[in-house]
Amino acid sequence: MIDNNQSTIELSIEDSIIEINNNNYEETKTHDLQMLSSQIFRNDPKDISLYDSEKEIPITIRSDWFSNFSTNVRYQISEVPIMPIFGYEKVDFSIGSSPVIMLAKKYQIKDELPENVQYKFSQDFRKLIWVTYRYGYKPLERIEGENIIAYSSDTGWGCTVRVGQMLLMRTLQLHFYTESYECYQLLQLIQENLLDAPYSIQQIAAVGTELGKKPGDWYSPSTMCHAIDKLLTLHPIPKLKSKIFMETIIYKDQLYSVAGDVDIDDFLSNCVLCKKSEGYYCEKCREKLNSIEWNKSMLVMIPLMLGLGSIHQEYYETLKFFLNIPQTVGIIGGKPKSALYIVGYQNDSLLFLDPHLAQQACTSDQDLLNKIETYHCSSYKLIPMSSAESSISLGYYFRNKESFLEFERIISENRDAIKGLIGVQEFTPQYCTEDFEVPDIKTSDSDEEYVVL
Ligand SMILES: [Zn+2]
Repeated sequence: MIDNNQSTIELSIEDSIIEINNNNYEETKTHDLQMLSSQIFRNDPKDISLYDSEKEIPITIRSDWFSNFSTNVRYQISEVPIMPIFGYEKVDFSIGSSPVIMLAKKYQIKDELPENVQYKFSQDFRKLIWVTYRYGYKPLERIEGENIIAYSSDTGWGCTVRVGQMLLMRTLQLHFYTESYECYQLLQLIQENLLDAPYSIQQIAAVGTELGKKPGDWYSPSTMCHAIDKLLTLHPIPKLKSKIFMETIIYKDQLYSVAGDVDIDDFLSNCVLCKKSEGYYCEKCREKLNSIEWNKSMLVMIPLMLGLGSIHQEYYETLKFFLNIPQTVGIIGGKPKSALYIVGYQNDSLLFLDPHLAQQACTSDQDLLNKIETYHCSSYKLIPMSSAESSISLGYYFRNKESFLEFERIISENRDAIKGLIGVQEFTPQYCTEDFEVPDIKTSDSDEEYVVL
């Protein structure tokens, strides 16, 4: 139940809780910039120029009126059942239709009535947390030369951030066993106007600067994984850690050292039988590694390329396979420069939650309670894999070691399906470790300079 007088969020797992003062909302009435920017949204499609006398710098408050408006019109149009313009398809629940898979769960019309299957599916779909663009929050400032540009909305650039928040929310739903419709406590963690909210777009923008991203910049799926990873380090969730595997191989020594909280080098030190430089580890060290007990759950993120540009047909079945692994928490993917939270598929099309709808940010706990419906989506659509972007990031949640070992078994038993895209190895090869010196190879910073042979 929700107690409006409580001062902390009580999301508990065993003995720990996350503490957030949930009365500490950004004061909308006293904050000039915010008040101005919400006025802009309602009334004025023009940018406003101000002067910050404290910082002695001009500020341009970006009016997102037009981009919010056009985004929402586009979103509403795409809700229309026949949508050839946007390439979306409806999920088919008619007799004889193919099964729908959502987060490794199968919805199939076989012995049941189509409406029953569709009802079960839509109930489950609505339990997922849907995060969209929001407007009407304290502007995020971007310094451009002698100017500050202030964004009080993320319409047009924040879609991957929103998809990342959805993936994180799904992970926390599993982690806290709160997979119910009431998700108020989790939603507090991402509130734009709640100053203590650890995973709000403001917090993401703050870690984004370390990743070379300013407010107004679009995030790639892999940058967003790094942002999630940094956020979970800065604002830890009890008994949860995260790890990104950029080489698409999950190295158990790295994973286990985080999950088990051990220094792997100390743990396996001074073995005369191992030849690390040759990638050889003795049986005893392997056993030792595999005996590490986990005391944390893990969110593992794996950025991947499934072809160049759009997803290559060769990988369609592999992508379906990834969404069928029980530990999946979905995929950050989408269309070029337009991120979608991919949660399943039917035939060769992907099921997703779409962040491209601009909604007003909540201004208080009561406002959040009133707007809880805006965090659940009742429209389920499909995008053909042929029009989906090949750059994606997989997310998997391992509650414990057993859960990871099940994943490892599935991976090792289905090499053909996986086509070598991801894998699990016990030890990190020397060339992947930090002390390894990169040979002098000419590299290019610009993607455009790559020549594809
Ligand atoms: Zn050894």
